[in-house]
Amino acid sequence: MTVFRQVCPFHADEDIRGVATGDDGGSLSFTCARTSGHPHGGPHSWLYVPQPDGLPGIDGYAAELGLATELPAAIAQYREKWIEYGVAERAYALRCPDDFAALVSRYGHTAVRPKQYTASAFLAGVLGVLSKRGTVLYHLGPATGRWKYNSTISWWAVAPAPDWESSRLSWHDSGQDVSYVPGAAAGR
Ligand SMILES: [Zn+2]
Repeated sequence: MTVFRQVCPFHADEDIRGVATGDDGGSLSFTCARTSGHPHGGPHSWLYVPQPDGLPGIDGYAAELGLATELPAAIAQYREKWIEYGVAERAYALRCPDDFAALVSRYGHTAVRPKQYTASAFLAGVLGVLSKRGTVLYHLGPATGRWKYNSTISWWAVAPAPDWESSRLSWHDSGQDVSYVPGAAAGR
């Protein structure tokens, strides 16, 4: 496991140790346990998804696609719920179908072909950056359905934070399939 530390963006003196999320991309989960000084009250959690060398920078392309506003808007469709990553990805894909198709064409998708770095890793990476800033809320949770090959996966919400125990929508319970992914076989 890569030992990796990041400083809480709201507490310059809190050096947080990342915890491996168990996905195959080497993502790390961070939580600053302080209960004051964070934008939404309580502890602050964020996700870090490593970006491979030699790919276009996450910041430039994410900005080009307006992801700092489009991703929170997609998640906000499920207000008052934590949604599993796949539900958020599908919501974004339906909201911005041309941009999502361009991402899949650029990075690929596990629904099309198994691959370590995918459009999903890119989008999760952008969500990770947004979660660190506090623009979206992040929680590590169980992976369900077709995402189950990850032991855990990111869950997302917009403020105010929904109750983690009672307000969750998993990919499995959403009843959706991956037909939103260009080139995917429906139902997988
Ligand atoms: Zn903090």
